[in-house]
Amino acid sequence: MSNSRRLFLKGACIAVVGASGFTLARAKSTSATNVEPACKYALVHDETKCIGCDACSIACREVNQVPEGVDRLEIKREGPFGEYPNQQFHFTRISCQHCDDAPCVKVCPTGAAYKDPKTGIVCVDEWKCVGCQYCIAACPYQVRFINPVTKAADKCDFCKETRLKENSLPACVSACPTKALTFGDITDPQSQVVQVLKSTPSYRSKTDLGTRPKVFRIASQSGEIEL
Ligand code: SF4
Ligand code: SF4
Ligand code: SF4
Repeated sequence: MSNSRRLFLKGACIAVVGASGFTLARAKSTSATNVEPACKYALVHDETKCIGCDACSIACREVNQVPEGVDRLEIKREGPFGEYPNQQFHFTRISCQHCDDAPCVKVCPTGAAYKDPKTGIVCVDEWKCVGCQYCIAACPYQVRFINPVTKAADKCDFCKETRLKENSLPACVSACPTKALTFGDITDPQSQVVQVLKSTPSYRSKTDLGTRPKVFRIASQSGEIEL
């Protein structure tokens, strides 16, 4: 891994994910919803760089052992826009938005859906999940599902239990051949994710709902209607 790719793990978050790991995160899960995290992980999807190759979703499936028939990450393809030979496609990332104010956490009756107190990652404790599907109904982004193997609610966890534990970037971020994905601590002004957001206008999905998503998007110009 290059030095620049390691930068996101410096500071508070490395101690949080690397050292505390699974046990501490779960032990504190029930009191997690109202605690301001030590750091806040966020992701940027640069739609102008995305070529819709699906390397990200394939890597996600492999690293996180996502069963067939369900997805933690989908790349939605729209188009073609324009006329041959200048046709373009528009690719949108569909995955958990790691909402700062997460409806899934609010409705969970057992505390299985929780916001990690150290990283702000919205997680699922599969051992506490009773499969009631309240969280699936409450999620405005429709990214939760029942894992057919664990029978618990599941979704993107920013690779908290796999790649972050190894002090590596999320699988989708590492796999992307065009560097369309940037991940890091949004509270650290030096982080790569903050640098990208400072330098380029971005948008987030359904902000009118007050969920405060931590997945940012840099809009693709393709798909605009030319009058
Ligand atoms: S996108 Fe859905 S599953 Fe993810 S934190 Fe928000 S409400 Fe929860
Ligand atoms: S961060 Fe990890 S779990 Fe989330 S979509 Fe990327 S690879 Fe999948
Ligand atoms: S790997 Fe990168 S370029 Fe390919 S679909 Fe995913 S985000 Fe887009």
